[in-house]
Amino acid sequence: MTDFGKYTKELKKLIEGAHHILLICHINPDGDAAGAMLALRRWIISHGGNAEMISPNALQKFLLWMHDADKIVDFHHNIEKGTRLIREADLIIMVDFNSPSRLGKAEELVLSSTARKVMIDHHPDPGTLADLIISDTGRSSTSELVYFLVNEMEEGEFSEPDFIEAVYVGIITDTGNFEHGLYSGDTMRTVGLLLDRGVDKEKIVNHIFSNFSADRMRLKGFALHSRMVIHPDLHTAYIWLTKEDLETFNHVKGDTEGFANILLAISGIVLSVLFVERSGFVKMSLRSKGSFNANVLSRRCFNGGGHRNAAGGEMKGSIHDVLEHFEEVLPSFKAELDAAAAEIAK
Ligand code: 5GP
Ligand code: MN
Repeated sequence: MTDFGKYTKELKKLIEGAHHILLICHINPDGDAAGAMLALRRWIISHGGNAEMISPNALQKFLLWMHDADKIVDFHHNIEKGTRLIREADLIIMVDFNSPSRLGKAEELVLSSTARKVMIDHHPDPGTLADLIISDTGRSSTSELVYFLVNEMEEGEFSEPDFIEAVYVGIITDTGNFEHGLYSGDTMRTVGLLLDRGVDKEKIVNHIFSNFSADRMRLKGFALHSRMVIHPDLHTAYIWLTKEDLETFNHVKGDTEGFANILLAISGIVLSVLFVERSGFVKMSLRSKGSFNANVLSRRCFNGGGHRNAAGGEMKGSIHDVLEHFEEVLPSFKAELDAAAAEIAK
């Protein structure tokens, strides 16, 4: 694991020297993006400072219970306030992303801001988005990285209840409650400390993973029954959902969360993709096992990105156009898919 001592000193100096700190996360924020922002802000406040928070679009309902989630400005619905906060900021801290396109409609304003910029992230290929880039792909989540950075800046253990709760949300989100993703002994030692400090894991797991509507369960059943395609020779399985399918099941944002992972439970499958049709474009979520690099496929084929085993992207067109494109390009990854499947079968 990288030694972040010098980065932490620099981060602390920037935070202490700033008058208007702005934290900003990626579009369609998940529990890690929201958790990392809320956790870092908690420490900044306890340290006598303040920080505003922006999300490029609204938080999903199942995250709104988090303390101070209501203080996150939804840029899409509050452009005026969001614009003012970006213009006022003299320090912008970007969390849980490394590609400017993940800023949605806030992209240009952030890029043209003269504020000092920091990026805290755990995705591969950190890029050059900020003056100070704190990127650790060895961490389960940006929230785990924030936990580490805060404790370094604190020069001791910071265990304020809202802080440990936000960190826990981030870690369990990006690991699917320790089912997948990249987690290490260090992650579990951090989790151990969070539990020792009294984090309410049952409450959090309930909010994050057991908070769906009955309609969502029916949509999941329908997707598995009627919209699942398997290519055993390519070790690939996918689910596709049209706009009409979503309407039929009274879809609300977040309902397809988790669908992308399900098909990896099928024996021999190393790549699972969820295609969801939106207005004029299709959003896809890719999950993979072992050495198969979903990030590379997503970048190459869907203008996307992410991690090796969890990536996403989007593409213009109808679901049928996009599926046709996917079916066309997928065989070119056969060697990598075969290799990953052979390793898993060992
Ligand atoms: P999800 O499938 O849960 O939306 O995203 C999985 C991972 O891929 C996350 O780490 C997320 O940041 C990344 N990701 C999802 N969609 C996109 C996208 O459109 N562009 C890029 N660069 N990354 C994405
Ligand atoms: Mn993350």
